[in-house]
This record gives sequence, C-alpha cells and structure tokens, in this order.
Amino acid sequence: MSIGKAGRVLIIEDEKKISDIVALYLEREGFRTVVADSGDKALKLINEPFDLIVLDLMLPDIQGEELCKAVRETSDVPIIMVTAKSGEDDRIKGLGIGADDYVVKPFSPRELVARVKAHLRRTKKTSGKRLGFNGGVLIIDAENMDVKKRGVAVVLTPTEFRLLMALAEKPGRVLSRLQLINMVQGYDFEGYDRTVDAHIKNLRHKIEPDQKEPVFIKTIYGVGYKFTGIPDED
Ligand code: CA
Repeated sequence: MSIGKAGRVLIIEDEKKISDIVALYLEREGFRTVVADSGDKALKLINEPFDLIVLDLMLPDIQGEELCKAVRETSDVPIIMVTAKSGEDDRIKGLGIGADDYVVKPFSPRELVARVKAHLRRTKKTSGKRLGFNGGVLIIDAENMDVKKRGVAVVLTPTEFRLLMALAEKPGRVLSRLQLINMVQGYDFEGYDRTVDAHIKNLRHKIEPDQKEPVFIKTIYGVGYKFTGIPDED
C-alpha cells in the first residue's frame, strides 16, 4: 500500500525514540504521519484534518489531558492516548475527557497499529441508517454520525457513538460489557469492564433526558446494559 492511503495520523510525543518507531510502523502500513514533539506544536496542528491522533499524556509543556479537551472542542477524531500511568483510574479519567482508547508504556508498536486500524475501521463502517426513538426524542443519523436529543445536536466521541449504535440497533436485548467491548473495539482489550461503564456514564449524561431515570440505556445488574428506547415508526 502506498504511503498515505490508509489515513493521516498525528503523533503527539516528545520522546523521539518512541515517535520514530510509531511513525515507522504506521508508515509501513500505509499511513501518513505527522509528529508534534510538544504540546505547543500540537496545538498548531490539531485543526488540520487527521484521521486519528496518538497522544502522549506526559508532555513537557502542556498536559495531554488539556490537549485532548482542546481537540474535542472542535473535532471527534479518534484519540488513542499513550501513557506511563498504568492505574485504572487514569484510564477512566482519560476516557472521561474524550479519548477513545489507551495504551500503556511500554507498549508494542504492533499492538498500537492494530488499535489504530480497528478505530479507523469502526469510524468508516457506519451505514446510512437513521434511527428515531421515543417519538423523536432521540434521533441517530448513522451516516453522518449525528445524534440529536429533542432536536438539539449532541456531540459524542467516536467510541460513545459506536457504543450507542451497538445498543440502539438491538433494542430490548441485554448486552454484556464484554460483548459491548468486542462490538465497539473489534477485539477484547484486557476486558476491563469499568471502561465500558465510564463510556456509558458519559453517554447517558449526553442522551438521557433525565440522568436519574434513564429511558434509553438501562443497567442490568451483574450482566450489562440494555437499550430501552422505543423505536419510532418510519
Ligand atoms: Ca512524554
């Protein structure tokens, strides 16, 4: 595959040793890469059209979390965070600010490439469906990745969107956390269930008319989640 065909990836990483190897592996798979070795340089680049961002959490000038928030103000591009912090709380915090995935240093470049590909495959694979629920309270336009709550646009991260699609395409069916991880990520990433819970929490916050009485996503204790929206007639 020729360079650039697979997509354009922004690598935000201050350790040249790491950015070199990540770029090498991605370019070998047909990606075009751009490296920003500081947060300041990254800020100048984030409004350019990238298909995915690999973001190191520990940068010398700007916190990776801040950059992630800055990206999310204007874009829903998939973000994979790279971090030396291996605590699960850090992962969940990262997902809470809009990252789609995590790899923990030291990571295998091959695994990172697999994740990049999985995220891009998922982003492209949305069909031309339009789903409406509860008399138009929730509208999902799959083709444009557009979601509206009571007519107002809701901004979801790609992972939140895929999670919502996975649930909304099967109203009434209980899906386990593992099933959801597999449907959304395309593979089982260490099976840490709490990351699913963190995504669901964000999703509910955005789509539920009332947080305390969810009508779209119900928790089935000890099992997983069920989509309980009532499909609208066409
Ligand atoms: Ca670093």
